[in-house]
Amino acid sequence: MENMFAEVLVDVKSLSGSLHYFVPAGLAGKVQAGCRVLVPLQSRRVVGYVVSLSEQAPESGVNYKEIATLLDEEPVFNSHQWELACWLAQRYLCSKVTALQTVIGPALHSRPGRVKKIYPVLSPQGEPDFSRQPGQQKVWQVICQHPGMTRKELVAAAGVSDSLINTMLARGILCTRIEERTPRCSYPVPRQEKQELKLSSWQQMALLEIESHLKQARPGVFLLHGVTGSGKTEVYLRAIETVLGEGRQAIVLVPEIALTPQMVSRFQARFGDKVAVLHSGLSDAKRYDEWQRIRCGAAPVVLGVRSAIFAPLSNIGIIVLDEEHENSYKQEESPRYHARDVALQIAARHNALVVLGSATPSLESYSRALPGGPYKKLVLPQRVTPHSLPPVFLIDMRRELKSGAGGIFSRRLLEAIGERLEMQEQVILFLNRRGYATFVVCRECGLVIKCPYCDISLTYHNSGIMRCHYCNFATSAPLNCPDCQSNQIGYFGTGTQKVEEELRVYFPGAGVLRLDADSTGRRGAHQEIFQAFKEHRADILIGTQMVTKGLDLPGVTLVGVVNADITLHMPDFRAAERTFQLITQVAGRAGRGQQKGEVLVQTFTPDHYSLVFAARHDYEGFFKHEYAQRRLLSYPPFVRLGRIVLAGTEQEEVEAGAAYWAGRLNELIAIKNLPAVLLGPAPAPLARVRNRYRYHLVVKARGAKVLRQLLAFVRDTDPGPQLRRLLISVDLDPQNLM
Ligand code: ADP
Ligand code: ZN
Ligand code: ZN
Repeated sequence: MENMFAEVLVDVKSLSGSLHYFVPAGLAGKVQAGCRVLVPLQSRRVVGYVVSLSEQAPESGVNYKEIATLLDEEPVFNSHQWELACWLAQRYLCSKVTALQTVIGPALHSRPGRVKKIYPVLSPQGEPDFSRQPGQQKVWQVICQHPGMTRKELVAAAGVSDSLINTMLARGILCTRIEERTPRCSYPVPRQEKQELKLSSWQQMALLEIESHLKQARPGVFLLHGVTGSGKTEVYLRAIETVLGEGRQAIVLVPEIALTPQMVSRFQARFGDKVAVLHSGLSDAKRYDEWQRIRCGAAPVVLGVRSAIFAPLSNIGIIVLDEEHENSYKQEESPRYHARDVALQIAARHNALVVLGSATPSLESYSRALPGGPYKKLVLPQRVTPHSLPPVFLIDMRRELKSGAGGIFSRRLLEAIGERLEMQEQVILFLNRRGYATFVVCRECGLVIKCPYCDISLTYHNSGIMRCHYCNFATSAPLNCPDCQSNQIGYFGTGTQKVEEELRVYFPGAGVLRLDADSTGRRGAHQEIFQAFKEHRADILIGTQMVTKGLDLPGVTLVGVVNADITLHMPDFRAAERTFQLITQVAGRAGRGQQKGEVLVQTFTPDHYSLVFAARHDYEGFFKHEYAQRRLLSYPPFVRLGRIVLAGTEQEEVEAGAAYWAGRLNELIAIKNLPAVLLGPAPAPLARVRNRYRYHLVVKARGAKVLRQLLAFVRDTDPGPQLRRLLISVDLDPQNLM
């Protein structure tokens, strides 16, 4: 028999490359590329992924170690997934193992608590030693003859005790595998009747354009700029029908679970069981089920959040990113990928068409859809419902204050709510802060109570608990000031709970629901609240950005923004863009049914351009203004950014590390004459989180290549024993500069 060598990517974060191992005779023909194995590494055994096999030793004269155990009989990933993982690792500067695990996704999870089947572990050394273990010998014979029995069946067939099986599992002679079962629906929602809609002429035009490109070899990328309620989803659905008709498959990404209930029911109404739903609230078992349905071809339509972009489909015809501007498409841990970039990459490999849909496209995407750019623009400028976009009024809270009304609500907003309630219509109130009071302060000495681990004030919740919204630290609110012992503790800043409480005072008869991270902690809670509001079991829905997205509720005629300034003053060059998006999106929830809608926005800065343009529903105007700003200040989309965050428990050390890296990078930029500019070092806006001090460096450059070069330098250079202790993360195209 010929020699066989396996290239193995070991699951050890500090090792970036792959290693080679000898395939022992007992495993010859069984080890395949895509299987997991156990391999010796120093004195340990570690899990590894076989990425390739070869008959020649990579280097002659080297004594290669043997693969110890084969963990999978069937590959858990294929060559396409491996190529994608390599691309991901290179694109986002993460290790290949991390990238591969991200790509493989739920296929690696076993189904907890489900029917497991038992298999013998085939080892190169042949049959394990069963001398003086007749019971185990018996089990071994039975299971080798009938691999894949359940534990119950095996116990019965071999006539042994349950604990004996445990012993054999612990010895590694037997292993369990989770088998495919009849999968159930992963997201039970009330099914909608299939509607036969007559497309508007705008929808018709967009669809025609998409369908004519579907047939082409390089179908391209479309930016579907459609105002809220313009019927974007209907365009997606029809395009997908066409794709399915050609025997191909579709992926539809949505930003958050909050969006899913209505999307899910519309997709299920159209495609029935052909839809697999992948969202963050799924248990591992259900996620695994859905993954299996996708892999075996039962579900050619995948609807899901960010990671669903890795769904194991074989022939993708179309990929849709709904609300493409949303931040949640960017993963904030390694690999720090953006689903949009991955979608473009996957689409290129499948010759699939990409649709990026939004009422408020990101500056990056919209600039690429300008004349001459790489994307093609499609527009849906009008609503499909009887009423056009609702009028938006900015309410100057400075004037309210001056006239002595210093509460949460302006008089105008209170009046409007009262009127809508009288007419039995529904109201959505948006405030981008959860909890009750956003800071707790001593009125005597001015102390603001902060999280002991983060540089952030604690938020008071109406349970009497103060919480850190970064690390979730919780403590009960003090009766006396921890510094000066005075009892003058005050609660300031408004969160959703306080809004809810005040609403109940002003409108005691009204049904009020709250939708935020606190009210939706329990699985399914989100959907219950949403359903209750949809069925008009409540009149007012108050919530964080969860209420701004995608809800299509015809009964809502008034939307109130309690404080539009919160996002506007974030220390981030995207603050204006975010604010414009949030206001436009939440405004889009009003007046989608038979009654006319209205939007009231409370702000202390009613002259700010992002609010003024949002109030006019003027995306183009906003884009032009913001685009000019970005050009002036050299921010994306005119440059690309790279960000390096250093974190550690000793502030001086982190500061020294930041200075060191800034020096090294500036040196490299100068020596190689690289077209890049380094900003910083500076403390990150969130200067301390979870007891770690944070500093950051931001690099600007025209192209990603030079950024990747600089970030890779940081990743691969050893700064010496002292600074080695710091945590370093590198991020290409960061969405978040906190
Ligand atoms: P968007 O995603 O652009 O905000 P949706 O796709 O959610 O808009 O559509 C809003 C509502 O209009 C949905 O209830 C949808 O069923 C309905 N709708 C879509 N297209 C049409 C049409 N051509 N005629 C009538 N109603 C439509
Ligand atoms: Zn005090
Ligand atoms: Zn904290």
